[in-house]
Amino acid sequence: MRYSQLFGKTTKSVPADADSINAKLLTQGGFIQKEISGVYNYLPLGLRVLTKIQNIIREEMDKIGGQEILMPTMTQEESWVTTGRHTMDVLFHLKGQGGTNLVLNPTHEEVVTPLAQKYIFSYRDLPFYVYQIQNKFRNEARAKSGLLRGREFNMKDLYSFHTDEEDLNRYYEIVKQAYHAIYNRLGIGDITVLTFASGGSFSQYSHEFQTLCDNGEDTIYLCEKCKLAINKEIIDVQKTCPECGSDNLKTVKAIEVGNIFKLRNKYSKAFNFYYSDKNGQEKIVEMGCYGLGPSRTMGAIVECRHDDKGIVWPTSIAPYQIHLIGLDLHDEKIKSQSEKLYQTLQEKNIEVLYDDRLDVTAGTKFADADLIGIPQRLVISKRSLENGGVESKKRNEEKSEILSLNSLDKLI
Ligand code: ATP
Ligand code: MG
Repeated sequence: MRYSQLFGKTTKSVPADADSINAKLLTQGGFIQKEISGVYNYLPLGLRVLTKIQNIIREEMDKIGGQEILMPTMTQEESWVTTGRHTMDVLFHLKGQGGTNLVLNPTHEEVVTPLAQKYIFSYRDLPFYVYQIQNKFRNEARAKSGLLRGREFNMKDLYSFHTDEEDLNRYYEIVKQAYHAIYNRLGIGDITVLTFASGGSFSQYSHEFQTLCDNGEDTIYLCEKCKLAINKEIIDVQKTCPECGSDNLKTVKAIEVGNIFKLRNKYSKAFNFYYSDKNGQEKIVEMGCYGLGPSRTMGAIVECRHDDKGIVWPTSIAPYQIHLIGLDLHDEKIKSQSEKLYQTLQEKNIEVLYDDRLDVTAGTKFADADLIGIPQRLVISKRSLENGGVESKKRNEEKSEILSLNSLDKLI
């Protein structure tokens, strides 16, 4: 992609209402643009990152037997009345033709349970797992912190259906491992910890995945040895590390990037969702739900992977792999070498953002590259060619090296 043609440019001015590092850097870098409070446009760079995060999650969900579906954004309020959740503050209400009451779904238990009920009748149909990656709507009291707490935001939600609690427990552990794999691949595995949270009335605990970050909204108590934590809301009940029993817990700030629940029969009961077992007896279906927010996670990654110059994307989700900067492009000879290099990289199917602008200084191009945060920078200029090729530098390192134009294979 030519930077000169990219929709969404960097800007020096800090958005007046940017109350967080992710809002500031993502807006300045040309990734997102605020529409209204807690609602964002994703520009090409931002959408590339979000899509990569979603695809990593998708691959890991597919690996554990998840089948991807897409449920609707809106539904009838009646389903929410059935579960008693129609009075929740976060629900957005709509009026349809003829005065029908509709809601924008903030989560999808009220949709997926009756949907599953249309296809599941017998123990032979269980277990099964469906997920979607879709936007949710919550009328959050305090939409804030850029992508961290939106009113419209992206979520992956997986739902599992089982014959009994034992099978639910089995799958719950499998999902936990899949979540660890996802955060590892997203480059935040080392700072994302499994956290015991309140499970409400239907199970002892739920689990959150919390990314350690000084700017996080949540307070958790971390056992540094076991890399396990307890959420503030249950510390009075559970005062020691659930793994080693230590009471030497450190109070830290964190961002909740995922949350998994054993729903048990809370929703199946509400919708009268039964199956017939081997003996032909009616039994209640057991359910689990597993949420993970790609958009919040994108914000969280920026919060914990940046420096004073800009974002430092993990390679797996960077919008492009190489940021090619052409300098001295008024010189026709240098320009043709630079264009040729851009073409070669594209032919090798390397994702490259090419700063081909003629009207900005080298300093501006370097500053923009640091702000955008692509892992590898290549500079082709009069000086680099005199030194024997292109200057290569990693975003997270200071040192640079000259690579000859025919040794670029080394990069990839
Ligand atoms: P929180 O406690 O932060 O309000 P929650 O516990 O209500 O979130 P869930 O309903 O479990 O969240 O949603 C699953 C995931 O969706 C969360 O772990 C988070 O990654 C993401 N998420 C939830 N609410 C928001 C939001 N307002 N903006 C962006 N992402 C969100
Ligand atoms: Mg929560």
